[in-house]
Amino acid sequence: MTPTEIGALLRKLPQVDRLVNSAAVETLIDTHSRSLVLSECRALLDSLRANALAGEIAADELSEDSIIAQLGARLSQRQMPYHRRVINATGVVLHTGLGRAPLADEVTDALVEQLRHPVRVEIDLESGLRGSRDEGCAQLLKELTGAEDATIVNNNAGATLLLLSALAEDKEVLVSHGELVEIGGSFRIPDIMEQGGARLKAVGTTNRTRASDYDKACSSDSAMVLKVHTSNYRVVGFTEEAEIGELCDIGKKHKVPVVHDMGSGCMVDLASRGLRGESWVRDSLESGCALVCFSGDKLLGGPQAGIIAGSAELVQKCRKHPLYRAMRPGRMTYIALEQTLRVYLRGEEESIQAIPSLRRVLESEEVLTERQQLLLKELDSLTDLVVQPLDHDGYAGSGSLPARPIASKGVQITTSRMPVQELARLLRTGEPAILPTVQDDAVILDVRTIEKTEIAEIAARVAEIVGS
Ligand SMILES: *Cc1c(COP(=O)(O)O)cnc(C)c1O
Repeated sequence: MTPTEIGALLRKLPQVDRLVNSAAVETLIDTHSRSLVLSECRALLDSLRANALAGEIAADELSEDSIIAQLGARLSQRQMPYHRRVINATGVVLHTGLGRAPLADEVTDALVEQLRHPVRVEIDLESGLRGSRDEGCAQLLKELTGAEDATIVNNNAGATLLLLSALAEDKEVLVSHGELVEIGGSFRIPDIMEQGGARLKAVGTTNRTRASDYDKACSSDSAMVLKVHTSNYRVVGFTEEAEIGELCDIGKKHKVPVVHDMGSGCMVDLASRGLRGESWVRDSLESGCALVCFSGDKLLGGPQAGIIAGSAELVQKCRKHPLYRAMRPGRMTYIALEQTLRVYLRGEEESIQAIPSLRRVLESEEVLTERQQLLLKELDSLTDLVVQPLDHDGYAGSGSLPARPIASKGVQITTSRMPVQELARLLRTGEPAILPTVQDDAVILDVRTIEKTEIAEIAARVAEIVGS
């Protein structure tokens, strides 16, 4: 572009004042605010000017109508909350990027109902004096797991750090070589140990650790035997690990508490329903673990939280540690966790139906096939779209049921209108946002994590994107 052409483009740019006084912008000012519209308008004109100077703009982008449309789009984009609903079409039930467990209806009802009011968090209503924050959830956890007491912190990484700091500072903690895991981010068992002031004593080997290895390693300096769920990998082949019961016998013999970091706090018997790989909170405690810790938002299906349950004396030590104050949750967590735990009081079958993540993990093949057919039917009528059913591997996710795919059903789509990466991007950035996977040059929608009611929404978005 010649300087003269650029000059002509720049002269086309309207003044802020003229734009703001137009009727269309008046409407925008009514919905947003004058100051917001003004600042967005200036920012938009600045970027258009920069593009014009660089010669990277077409004249029609500088027309008043186009600028007003762009301004409207910028303002609605700004209004769109960062944290917003996403349709999870990945087949990964507990997706950390999507906030893990979606909550049960009664839990969200309770949150909506209670959060607009002051909420009892730690007042003893009988005496009017300060009570215990943990009491509401601890009562339920005692009933559901057989624990003597329980305490709640912000997440399970915090729970692990807290219990190591409170129970093993300057002492030895025995962990199997095969369980020195990195869960993700910088959460590595050896580092957490060091942070908690405990000395790691690795026991056995990577693939085989026997009960006798722990027995030999126990000394008067041992403060804890820690068993860690290998949440994102599985040691296969020539392997051996000590059963939790055997560990507890050794702990008893040496008077050393056994602590089980379970990762997922599974409250129902998944193994009898065909999903092996997770132990049951109640089993670990009944086997003799002094404490267990687990997340609130993995297979438990509740809010983000870390739960420490077991011996009343050890739970109290954790609660008295200064770190506890730095890790205690807020009222939203207590309300959501209490209500989630209350669902479990109704029994296993009802819990599985009521708690979305459990239901999704256990969804039957018939239901998945029915949903797949429904999605196919909705998408089939769209032009310029190639739609195919496929079998797909779903996962529990977030370190639950590690490295064990759960057979699922999906629909694969491609379009001649755009490359698959662009199709996926448009699905993600629209409203509602839809998160698919991209595999073998196709966009895949896995129906395990899609609700039946979301199928029409997905079809409408796809129709919009391919323009049919
Ligand atoms: C997931 C996991 C954690 C971390 O739990 P968060 O609730 O994500 O902090 C710790 N230990 C194990 C074994 C886990 O699987």
